[in-house]
Amino acid sequence: AQGPLYLGLDFGTSGARAAVIDEEGRLVRDVKRGYGEGAAADWTGSWHRVLFELIDCLDPALRAGVAAVAFDGTSATALLVDPRDPARGVLAPAKLYNEAQSKEMAAAAKAMAPPAHTATAPTSTLCKLLTWWHEADTDPAATHWRRRALERGLAAPGPAPAASACSGWSSSGPAPLLLHQADWLAALLHEDVGRGTSDWNNALKLGFDPGCEAYPDWLARQPFAELLPARVVAPGAPVAPVSTAVAARTGLPGDCLVCAGTTDSIAAFVAAGVTEAGQAVTSLGSTLAVKLLSTTRLDDAAYGIYSHRLGDVWLVGGASNSGGAVLRRFFTDEQLRQLTPCLRPEAPTRLGYYPLPAPGERFPVADAELQPRMEPRPADDALFLQGLLEGIADIEAAAYRRLADMGASPLKEVLTAGGGAANPKWTEIRQRLLGVPVRAAVQGEACYGAALLARQGARQARAAKAAAGKAVAAK
Ligand code: ADP
Repeated sequence: AQGPLYLGLDFGTSGARAAVIDEEGRLVRDVKRGYGEGAAADWTGSWHRVLFELIDCLDPALRAGVAAVAFDGTSATALLVDPRDPARGVLAPAKLYNEAQSKEMAAAAKAMAPPAHTATAPTSTLCKLLTWWHEADTDPAATHWRRRALERGLAAPGPAPAASACSGWSSSGPAPLLLHQADWLAALLHEDVGRGTSDWNNALKLGFDPGCEAYPDWLARQPFAELLPARVVAPGAPVAPVSTAVAARTGLPGDCLVCAGTTDSIAAFVAAGVTEAGQAVTSLGSTLAVKLLSTTRLDDAAYGIYSHRLGDVWLVGGASNSGGAVLRRFFTDEQLRQLTPCLRPEAPTRLGYYPLPAPGERFPVADAELQPRMEPRPADDALFLQGLLEGIADIEAAAYRRLADMGASPLKEVLTAGGGAANPKWTEIRQRLLGVPVRAAVQGEACYGAALLARQGARQARAAKAAAGKAVAAK
C-alpha cells in the first residue's frame, strides 16, 4: 500500500502537464495534454476541459490516493468571473500573460502605483483589470462581459456608474471577481470561491505586497478594489477540500485538499528543490535567468529585478538578454554535443566575449545600447564555442555578484535548469567563475514544483490538525 500522493498541475502556454509524487518526492506519474487547435478562441473552455482530461487519465488507484493538489499558471494571466459560478460564469475572455494593455491603462497604473512598480508594466494583471474596469465604466453596451453581467443581474441596470462609484455593480448582485489562471483552476476543484483566493506570487503583478501580506493602500482605496481576490495566501497554503461534486466526478478523495498555487517560473524553481538562503537556480535555456533565495528582498526596476516571497525567504530574480539562443545562431544542438569534449575549461580562451542575440542588455548591466561582443572568431570551432560559453558564464557570475552588491544573501550553491544544464564542460567553466558548487537540477518541471507545494500544504494541514488534537487533549 502506498502513502499519500500529491498532484501538481502546470498550465503552460501550449498545454498542461500533471505530476503525481509520493511523500518522499518520487515522481510516480507524469502526463501531458496539449490544448489543441482552436484553444485560443476559448482559453478558459480549453483549460477546463484539459484539467479534467488530465485527472481522468491518471490510474483510478492513483487518483484515490491524492491527498492534495496545487496549480501553477502563467504569470499575469487573469479572468473576470461571476463569484457565484466561476466555472460557467466567465464574464470576459481571459487575458493572457503576454497581452500588453493600452498606453492609457499603463499610464493609469503608473498614476496610482509607486514608481517602477512591477504592476505598472503594460502586461501586468493590474493593467488588465484596469482595461476591464474602464470598458465597463465608459461603455456598458460595448463590452461583452458587462452585457452578460447585466443580463445575469450581476450589475445594476441603467447608466454606467461614475468612475469613482463601483457600487452600481454590486447593488443587485455581487461584483465580478478577478482571478488568476491558477486561482480559477483551483476554484474549479474546490468550488468554494467566496470573494476569491489567490497566492502571493500570482498576485504580485496585481500590486499585492507580500511583505506586509496585504494590498497596499494605493490599491485598496481604488474603486475597483472589490474585484480583487479577497484572500491572498502563501503558495502551498491549504485553501479548501475538493467539492463533493468534483470528488464524485473525478474519483479524487473527498478530503483531497486544494492548496494555493504559484506562477509557472516559480514552480519550476521550486521543482529544483532549493530551500535555503544562498541557494540559486540558473536557467540556461534560450535566455539566461538567475533566481536566488535571499533573506533580504530586492526590487530594482532599472535592472528588471524583483522579489517573490516563498515562505519566509525571498526569491530574487533577474534575467539577461544573453543565453542559449545565441549559441543556436552558430551551432546546432548536435554540433554543441560533438564539440563539447574538445573544450578545455582549465585553459580559458580570454576572448572576452559578451554574447547577445541583438544589441541591448538589462541585467547585470542595464544598457539598451550594449553591443554584442563575439569577435574575433577563431578558426577553431571548439575555441569559438568555449569563448561563447565563457562569455555567458561571465554574465552569470556578474549577475550573482550584482545581487550580492545589492544586498542579497551570499551565494552558496547553484543548480542548473534548461538545455545548458546537460553540458558538463560548461558546468566546469561556470563553477570556476562562480566559486561555488554547481550541479544540474534533478527536477525542473513546473508541475513537479506544484506537486511539492501540494505536499507542503498537506503537511501544514496535518500539523495544524495534530496541534488542535493536542490542545483538546490538554484541556
Ligand atoms: P527554452 O528556453 O527554449 O525552453 P531549453 O531549456 O530547451 O530552452 O534549452 C535550449 C537551449 O539550450 C538552446 O538555446 C541551446 O543553445 C542550449 N543547448 C542545448 N544543448 C546544449 C549543449 N550541449 N551545451 C550547451 N547548450 C546547449
